[in-house]
Amino acid sequence: MTRIVILGGGFAGLGVARALTRSRRRAQLDVTIVNRENFLLFTPMLPEVSSGSVEPRHIAQPIRSALRGRARFVLGSATAVDLDSRSVKATHSVTGEVTEITYDHLVIALGSDSSTHGVPGAQGHSVPLKTLDDAVCVRSKIIAAFEAAAVAQDDVERRRLRTFAVVGGGFAGVECAGELLAYLRAIRKQYPAADRPARMILVAGTGRLLEQLPQRFGDRAAQMLVRRGTEVVFEDDVASVDAGGLTLKSGKRFETGTVVWCAGVGVSRLVEHLALEHSKHHAIVVDADMSVPGRPGVWALGDCAQIPKPGGGSYPQTAQHAVREAPLLARNIEAAIRGRSTRPFRYREAGMMASLGDREGLADIAGRTMVSGLPAWLMWRAYYLARLPGAYRKARVALDWALSLPFPQDITSIE
Ligand SMILES: Cc1cc2nc3c(=O)[nH]c(=O)nc-3n(C[C@H](O)[C@H](O)[C@H](O)COP(=O)(O)OP(=O)(O)OC[C@H]3O[C@@H](n4cnc5c(N)ncnc54)[C@H](O)[C@@H]3O)c2cc1C
Repeated sequence: MTRIVILGGGFAGLGVARALTRSRRRAQLDVTIVNRENFLLFTPMLPEVSSGSVEPRHIAQPIRSALRGRARFVLGSATAVDLDSRSVKATHSVTGEVTEITYDHLVIALGSDSSTHGVPGAQGHSVPLKTLDDAVCVRSKIIAAFEAAAVAQDDVERRRLRTFAVVGGGFAGVECAGELLAYLRAIRKQYPAADRPARMILVAGTGRLLEQLPQRFGDRAAQMLVRRGTEVVFEDDVASVDAGGLTLKSGKRFETGTVVWCAGVGVSRLVEHLALEHSKHHAIVVDADMSVPGRPGVWALGDCAQIPKPGGGSYPQTAQHAVREAPLLARNIEAAIRGRSTRPFRYREAGMMASLGDREGLADIAGRTMVSGLPAWLMWRAYYLARLPGAYRKARVALDWALSLPFPQDITSIE
């Protein structure tokens, strides 16, 4: 029996576990997966949870049901990895009990963490958008800001409360700004005292949006957001965040009560402190077959790994890539067990899509054709609904979407 331990149950880790448990040699494999939540989070729809278009539970797939009992699941946080004695420690998420698990092959798929990179005040005065709890918190903060603005006597304070900032010009930031803008517009109707539209600011930091994608894609996304009233700030970074708002490095200041932090992707401390080679963003540097150089039996993929591209550079850290890396990594582990040669990861993106809220989207098909507006938004919904795991969740999300068309946006705050 070969013991395979997978750390992380996201797109990458769960994908590897499922591929291994479906393999013809599964009887000889003892697969354990460790994840701190008991579900896989379908992140592409996270901005829709923060805008209330989709209910939180509908984008979470229980790991146990995905594994169908064919692999062991440990609900807990991996807290230590000993690469020499080939063991990991996991602290149970409910009981706090620490378990030691030994392995022959270790798959590190711990994803990324949002990082405020030490920006003063950002940790305490902004909300990240990375987990289901974050998305619920963002929505509650928006509703709380509208409620407070409804009773604020002072004009300046009312304006501050109704100003919202998203930091980060990557995928998460752009989609979050677009979705929230649509939400702000929709719920405004339920606050009759609202004298003027809410203000949305997107701080890109860099010279353009969506830097990892072709320039025309980022430029078009910026145009669409600006046309709908978003103020996009380029080439200026956040210097500090405080209870009253945020200050940029140029000295420019925005008074706001709600800052959503979608910038700065880092890795967990555990990954950062492993005695392995790391990229400048602290991802684990792996060979093209996703094995960790100099550590036989250790593999890494997904957001926490830097996988080299054939012509130079590395693959982007997206769900689209993680789901393709996983089955190959499973095959490579089997090949390594049988003493066969492994295969390098090769993938050419079929395209990219972003949902920008208000029935607007943007799609780049094979780097040749760009579709925007309603057709792209419908493509985005059709594609991601198809990718959402399980018929039950597909039905629930489809119903959420259908119900959000005739009915006003829900402003119930339950956090
Ligand atoms: C708001 C948002 C929107 C996005 N939209 C898109 C999109 O539209 N298209 C796209 O392709 N990509 C999108 N992404 C990126 C995508 O989510 C990631 O690239 C993808 O999730 C990477 O998969 P992964 O398995 O490497 O990491 P993750 O999916 O993050 O999974 C890592 C898992 O490890 C667990 N974990 C972490 N630390 C520990 C620990 N110490 N112990 C145990 N478990 C641990 C986590 O809980 C998590 O379950 C988006 C990301 C965000 C945040």
